[in-house]
Amino acid sequence: MDCLFCKIVAGEIPAEIVHTTERTVAFRDLNPQAPTHVLVVPKDHYANAAELAAGAPVAAAELVTAAAAVATAEGCDDYRLVFNTGAGSGQTVFHTHLHLLAGRAFTWPPG
Ligand code: AMP
Ligand code: ZN
Repeated sequence: MDCLFCKIVAGEIPAEIVHTTERTVAFRDLNPQAPTHVLVVPKDHYANAAELAAGAPVAAAELVTAAAAVATAEGCDDYRLVFNTGAGSGQTVFHTHLHLLAGRAFTWPPG
């Protein structure tokens, strides 16, 4: 499958990997929207968060615990986690990824 994040997981495309677990890889976003902007992805390919949760619930939970571990490692108590799902929400890469954003103030609603 021609998938950017599968290629990052496989080491075929470079990325700044900051954390790995049995089922996840976390790397810095190429176009960061906060001082800490890390994407946590499952090693296996699922198109979005709901498909991951249905097909691999342990990996889905591991995305969240991995994101929390990265936030802690970066000294951030407060952070935002985002799953864009569908093009209309801003999803551009159709391999599940949890955005970890931290290190600045956030507004609500997110816009
Ligand atoms: P989304 O718009 O939610 O699908 O998020 C995709 C994210 O992937 C965007 O924030 C991009 O900046 C990021 N991105 C795209 N290509 C790369 C890459 N090669 N390495 C790291 N992040 C990337
Ligand atoms: Zn993939």
